[in-house]
Amino acid sequence: MKKNNIPVNHEDRALKGIRGEMLTFKADPFLCPETECYDHYADGLVVVSDGRILDAGEYAEVAPRYPELKDIDVYTDSVIMPGFIDCHLHYVQAPMIGSYGDTLLRWLNQYTFPMESRFFDKDFADEVAREFMKQLLAQGTTTANVFSTTFAESVDAIFEESERYNTRMITGKVLQDRNLPDSLRDSSAEESVALSEELLKKWHGRGRQLYAVVPRFAPTSTDLQLKLAGELYQRYKDSGVYMHTHLDEVQSEIDWVKQLFPGVPNYTEVYNRFGLVDRLSVFAHCCIVSEEEWELLHKADCGVVHCPSSNLFLGDGQFKYWQAKDRRRPTLVGMGTDVGGGTNFSIFRQLGEAYKVAMLQDHSLDMAHSLYLATLGGAQTLHLDHQIGRLAPGYEADLTVVDLHPSEFAQWRMKFSPKLMDKLFVLATLGLNNMVKATYVAGQKVYDRSREQKWQYAR
Ligand SMILES: [Zn+2]
Repeated sequence: MKKNNIPVNHEDRALKGIRGEMLTFKADPFLCPETECYDHYADGLVVVSDGRILDAGEYAEVAPRYPELKDIDVYTDSVIMPGFIDCHLHYVQAPMIGSYGDTLLRWLNQYTFPMESRFFDKDFADEVAREFMKQLLAQGTTTANVFSTTFAESVDAIFEESERYNTRMITGKVLQDRNLPDSLRDSSAEESVALSEELLKKWHGRGRQLYAVVPRFAPTSTDLQLKLAGELYQRYKDSGVYMHTHLDEVQSEIDWVKQLFPGVPNYTEVYNRFGLVDRLSVFAHCCIVSEEEWELLHKADCGVVHCPSSNLFLGDGQFKYWQAKDRRRPTLVGMGTDVGGGTNFSIFRQLGEAYKVAMLQDHSLDMAHSLYLATLGGAQTLHLDHQIGRLAPGYEADLTVVDLHPSEFAQWRMKFSPKLMDKLFVLATLGLNNMVKATYVAGQKVYDRSREQKWQYAR
């Protein structure tokens, strides 16, 4: 196994500035006039103290308020944004990303379940968690809602690595006690939920880590496991514990759910009957959703996650943002890479894929709307929008610096698109892998593309 040789960042925690062009959302452009939804600073300054944003705005206005501020990182030809928020992905699938395709249910059996069966081995889980976190940070993602798998070791590994960077990860033991190989299946519903509660008590609220009750999806849990999972979630939801699962991804899955839960009117209602649809519930995919289900999701104020590259890769259903954001009953929507069904770790690149998914259905998703989903929209989906997702005073200083010239060709191409939103759309469409110059987590630069040690743990 590879040794862990990531050094610790020794930057001072006193007043720090980050300067450059900036973009930050403050409202949902699907519901409000677009021009009122974001702040753009051509030459902006964020002032950070002890992990939080003390001040943010145009450099010329903010800088004179801090004459003692000397330590400023300056970025040109780039845009500083809040760290991206990945509302759904599987760290345990990082070793099988890009496995030659098949439909969802066959892909799970052929690739996913055998890989996840290896995570009883803590050393293996540690190795994967380490690589996974490096990839997230290199793509500017600072918060993620992550699937682990059956084993406690898989949960510990990702929380421990996240704690070293001081990122906020949300995860929990995956509950799955039927319709999957014995090597991965919980042997007892009661014991599986008891183990989940034990891990919840260990990790929830420790530093920035947050816990989720995670039934994989309805077909892989017995009624008893779903019932106990719902009870666990209801007991702890007021302390900020999440529920995270999959919903309405592809028609064959929906048909299977109908067979397994006869008489229940729809898939969302299956979860609802077990107490799993509530404010801190997050549902990945939601591609084929009936009007009754949208109404239920809206009423519960829960979040849904658009995972376009995964849906394209697995040939699933296609997300309909105009349904999700229907003003009569809007739903909270965030973006997800859904690695390893998704084909890369970049939330920014998902925006290019989201555009294509919309175009296939005769809709056009512009950059202002999709960038909102990648930042503030994700924070709202996780009900963390009072802490993350904006560059504004009081917010946690999670930032990413997106390079507007990540390649020679991109630099040349940008000459022909003077407006910022057009430039960002070009980047999302080109889908380059090295778009992020630096990533800051709670004010510390944990990733720097040009540094000898690109990744550094937080102090
Ligand atoms: Zn998934």
